[in-house]
Amino acid sequence: MTAPKLEWDTPMYRLAVAQLDQTAAQIGLDENIWERLRTPQRALVVSFPVRRDNYDEVDTVFGYRVQHLLTMGPTKGGIRYDEDVDLGETTALSMWMTWKCALMGLPFGGAKGGVRIDPRTYSEKELQRITRRYTSEIIDMIGPDRDIPAPDLGTNEQTMAWIMDTYSQQKGHSVPGVVTGKPIEIGGSLGRREATGRGVMTCVSEACRHLGIAIEGARVVVQGFGQVGGTAARIAQDLGARVVAVSDVGGGVHDPNGLDVRRLESWHAEHRKLVDFPGTECVSNAEILELPCDVLIPAAIQNQITGENAGRLQCRILAEGANGPTDLAADRILRERGVFVVPDILANAGGVTVSYFEWVQDAQQYFWSEEEVNTRLISIMQRAFRDVLGVAEAQGTDLRTAAMMRGVRRVAEAKRRRGVFP
Ligand code: NAD
Repeated sequence: MTAPKLEWDTPMYRLAVAQLDQTAAQIGLDENIWERLRTPQRALVVSFPVRRDNYDEVDTVFGYRVQHLLTMGPTKGGIRYDEDVDLGETTALSMWMTWKCALMGLPFGGAKGGVRIDPRTYSEKELQRITRRYTSEIIDMIGPDRDIPAPDLGTNEQTMAWIMDTYSQQKGHSVPGVVTGKPIEIGGSLGRREATGRGVMTCVSEACRHLGIAIEGARVVVQGFGQVGGTAARIAQDLGARVVAVSDVGGGVHDPNGLDVRRLESWHAEHRKLVDFPGTECVSNAEILELPCDVLIPAAIQNQITGENAGRLQCRILAEGANGPTDLAADRILRERGVFVVPDILANAGGVTVSYFEWVQDAQQYFWSEEEVNTRLISIMQRAFRDVLGVAEAQGTDLRTAAMMRGVRRVAEAKRRRGVFP
């Protein structure tokens, strides 16, 4: 099938559709369902004014919210603040959320949102105004039974608190379940902040076990030192691995003998950068991907591993913390080179899994201990990993294809059962 030129048609959207098309052809997906799944069910684009701290200055910014599929329950997906946010990126990310939720057996369809800004160029007060105005603009689309945002690139617990407060002000009562990834004090879940990184490392441990690699002493490289990458690096170190390099948007640091991740975290919190951390060599964000290691975790942005650099990667396991870090050409090269790829919709699904726990806890107003959250998360991630590995081995395919097959099949079956209205 060739896609008509549509509003969301960008390279990232085409990657998401190409992955769907490959899977659909392999599983013999019903053509009607296939066609529907290639496009979002709802997409909203807004532009709105933001007053800068310099009172007379007002910027116009763009915001997006896309719901890919409403068949499975409410929709779920993060909100991203980044200069590259557009309708195509938001749509691609919403599609990956659909497969991820289905793969993990969560009662959600996929969604995603974002605001096209560089958050580092706005003050905290300005970010609060942007968040509250963006929430007002998309307020009819979201809600605990409709669509539940969460943090993503450039947003965090504080952003979620502002969204929850703005939404609750409009409704006239507190609605904690409208977002997940909130601070604990207003209905957040213990363990949510670390959930994505913990899920990534659960998959890495399973992959090591499968390949006969000892996690103790394994060399780990992490691109991105935020909510996902920072936690993955810390947990890797706690598991006895040697974290040899990490990076953030400004570049990275490398020490073949292993970095002290906790010391690095304190240093990063104080200096707002990683480069120049004493006793390390600087590496660029391109170089870090090609360092010799056992485990490479891209945990920053999409489109980092391409046909151009995939041949030079020196890892044995590639665990995708970020969404869409690997393009199709790279996938082929990595498969040929025998690199074990744990795909994003599996590797980073820990975040949405604990978001689901948070949503359940908010609905019941009954909160779990951190140990309960972590134990359930780890067992769900291990089960998902083994299920996907089982499909991959049975079908003689890679983990991405196997994970996509499971996700798309579940969605297709739900669509078939519900039928077409009217
Ligand atoms: P974050 O904003 O907390 O951290 C992002 C990190 O990447 C920061 O260290 C930042 O400096 C770095 N970075 C940003 N732009 C970069 C660039 N151009 N090159 C190199 N590094 C860059 O974001 P996050 O929540 O950790 O999200 C990271 C990735 O993980 C995204 O792809 C996101 O979609 C995905 N993800 C996040 C979650 C979650 O729960 N937060 C869940 C699933 C997937």
